[in-house]
Amino acid sequence: MANVAKLAADALTDNDGILRLAPTWVPRSFLQPGKRIKLHPADYYALGTHRGGIDERWFASTTVATNEGAPPDEGLSYVVFGKHRFTLRDAVSELGAEIVGKSIWKKYSRWPVYSKFFDNMGPIPHHMHQNDKQAKLTGQEGKPESYYFPPQLNAIGNNFPYTFFGLEPGTTKQEIVRCLDRWNEGDNGILNYSKAYRLQPGTGWLVPPCVLHAPGSLVTYEPQWGSDVFGMYQSLVEGRAVPRSLLVKDFPKEKHSDNKYLVDALDWEGNVDPSFKDNHYLEPIPVANTEKDGWVDRWIVYGKVGGKQLFTAKELTLQPGAKCTIKDGGAYGWITVQGEGYVGKVRLQTPAMIRFGAMTEDEVFVTAQRAGEGVTFSNSGSEPLVGLRYFGPDACPDAPNVGDYRKKR
Ligand SMILES: [Zn+2]
Repeated sequence: MANVAKLAADALTDNDGILRLAPTWVPRSFLQPGKRIKLHPADYYALGTHRGGIDERWFASTTVATNEGAPPDEGLSYVVFGKHRFTLRDAVSELGAEIVGKSIWKKYSRWPVYSKFFDNMGPIPHHMHQNDKQAKLTGQEGKPESYYFPPQLNAIGNNFPYTFFGLEPGTTKQEIVRCLDRWNEGDNGILNYSKAYRLQPGTGWLVPPCVLHAPGSLVTYEPQWGSDVFGMYQSLVEGRAVPRSLLVKDFPKEKHSDNKYLVDALDWEGNVDPSFKDNHYLEPIPVANTEKDGWVDRWIVYGKVGGKQLFTAKELTLQPGAKCTIKDGGAYGWITVQGEGYVGKVRLQTPAMIRFGAMTEDEVFVTAQRAGEGVTFSNSGSEPLVGLRYFGPDACPDAPNVGDYRKKR
């Protein structure tokens, strides 16, 4: 990859630490695309109906999508530099700290997080993600995740804009074991023990591992840990069967038919928490009072998981003609969701429609060093310029905690 090292270094020099990324589309065979992520209507099945429709776009990703029948680079972001293309993952493994920053490189030797849009017509089955300890048993890492629902992509909520979280207080483990026992009898009824929250564009949630969730049908910006482990606990969704293999795939083989073990794998207290919303719901919090200058930067994903800051995200809005210089504590992946302008000297433009395989000007990666020195954003268009950016672990020591949005009222 000597060539990648040279190309990546040249690309960083050329744009002062900002890498231009191509769109990364990911299909999911068990879901129906929601058709709101700007792909041309004829291209949602560009990978073939056998692969499923495209309902995800991944951002600044060095994580592979573990889809059946996928090419080895599915899910990986490509850096585009002149007529050259190489993966962000190869660039990071060649240049390390120069791209992701010293502390992340030292601790993880990779870019350990990613974000995506997911866009479905209906809900996803009630599922959990294993914690680190559980995922290690199958040689993987745990996965906490977070949501933000960008208003720009959510003019319509599709079939079910509500998300079930956790289990009703008072639910017993035996009741959920019985749901798993009933897997092949149609609907196993697990949603009878949970409740759904209405999803509002412009708000979000923080979801730790081992907590059940059945994401609703809003387009969701989802910063998360770079892992693809999960267990589905619902056997039928919108009349479609969920294979039991999706319940057990990331548990040790000898436990696959042990329903009690599978229920014990849930964070029981976390699931039946009577203050679930208080402990997980997020509303944007302005970083500072800058609106009089024509721009505002807001925390959209914040809070700790198991006492650790694993990822955070901000939404930057600039009014027409506005300009600002922002310093951040770590590298970030950026996606533009409205308007046009510049990040440094790199042009940003939000596409109205994208052909599968076509290049866009809406996504970049900013290195840790450049983020620390400050990046100037400017709006050259006639509507607001809005971008979402996510950070890796411990990049933002000044980030708020869950619940802090109430202090501003
Ligand atoms: Zn999930």
